[in-house]
Amino acid sequence: MKNLALAYIHTGDRPDYDSEKSRLIAVINLFSAVGTSLTFVLATRALLTDDLPLALSLYTASLIFFSSHLLMRWRRSADTHKYSSTILLICLMALTAYLVHSGGARGTGPLWSYLVPSVTLFMAGLRRGLTILAVYFCVISALLFFNGGQWLLIDYGYEFKTRLLYSFLTVTFLSAYYEYTREISFKTISELSQKFEKQARHDPLTGLPNRRGMWEHLTYEYERSQRYRLNMTVLVCDIDHYKKVNDTLGHDGGDFILKEVATLMSEQLRKQDILARWGGEEFLILLPETNTQQAFIVAEKIRTQIENAEFTYNEQTLSVTVSFGIADASGKNQVDQAISEADGYLYKAKNAGRNTTLPKL
Ligand code: GH3
Ligand code: MG
Ligand code: MG
Repeated sequence: MKNLALAYIHTGDRPDYDSEKSRLIAVINLFSAVGTSLTFVLATRALLTDDLPLALSLYTASLIFFSSHLLMRWRRSADTHKYSSTILLICLMALTAYLVHSGGARGTGPLWSYLVPSVTLFMAGLRRGLTILAVYFCVISALLFFNGGQWLLIDYGYEFKTRLLYSFLTVTFLSAYYEYTREISFKTISELSQKFEKQARHDPLTGLPNRRGMWEHLTYEYERSQRYRLNMTVLVCDIDHYKKVNDTLGHDGGDFILKEVATLMSEQLRKQDILARWGGEEFLILLPETNTQQAFIVAEKIRTQIENAEFTYNEQTLSVTVSFGIADASGKNQVDQAISEADGYLYKAKNAGRNTTLPKL
């Protein structure tokens, strides 16, 4: 039963929709269910008391409320919820305006207009909702007061009409304030969650993707290379004798060199290449649509650039070198096999005296 109700409320929702859109879809389905059943019951009651015009308008409204849910069920596009909520709002406004005009059951019709502010702001958001409500307020005021109530089928009395409008404005103000605070907190929460998401995938020192972030790129690019039979190469790069850098400049100086090396490397890469901090002073470079020969040229360019660079920290100038291991990823069953192979070449490059790229291609 609970599952059935949940499935009903989330009709038309999709996992890739953001939470704001999912919330709107749930409100549409919920309001459609309440609107359909309530108007249906009241219509049947009106029919039993021989109030045919009221019964007919309520049955029509019930049908329209239900059709907005059907629309969500047969969703055709990502914008279906917009059409659905527009249908709901127009129907609700037309019905409540009719109830003000006719008086509904023994003059109770205007009571339903209190539903309009919260539903409108829920569905249309603060700015659009307030604009719609302003138009609705003018229509209701005109209905109540035009030519002393000529457009009304019932005589409400001056006090009732003015108090209806005052209280409608109060409810509108409170609903708008509620929607405003909800929008603000939603914005704050989504900004915070984006920030945390970014933090979880990036290294705070260099700003580069960390191991976790890089795995997402690796998986995505590896699958793409397999599907479209594209080349893809990985480079593992490690700073040579980095311990000495730390010993000479201190830990902060070591951090400084790490950042500088990261900047130099990223300057040599194309936009589609991805550089990550893979571990302490080790970097991983993913080169999509690149074969190993082209990758060798890239690695050598970076290696010589770093070799020739001078870094100054606290008035001390020093140079560093790096070593590279290269591996083709497109020919492997899994991308981690390529990373292990590149690691193997990096180990050999270290043993071969460092400041080297292996294999020589
Ligand atoms: P090799 O040429 O064989 O790579 O020698 P190495 O000294 O560079 O390598 P090793 O792995 O022995 O030492 C790496 C050092 O890097 C040890 C660790 O303290 C230091 N390190 C790791 N992460 C950081 C960091 O974020 N900042 C600083 N300053 N040092 C780090
Ligand atoms: Mg090292
Ligand atoms: Mg290392």
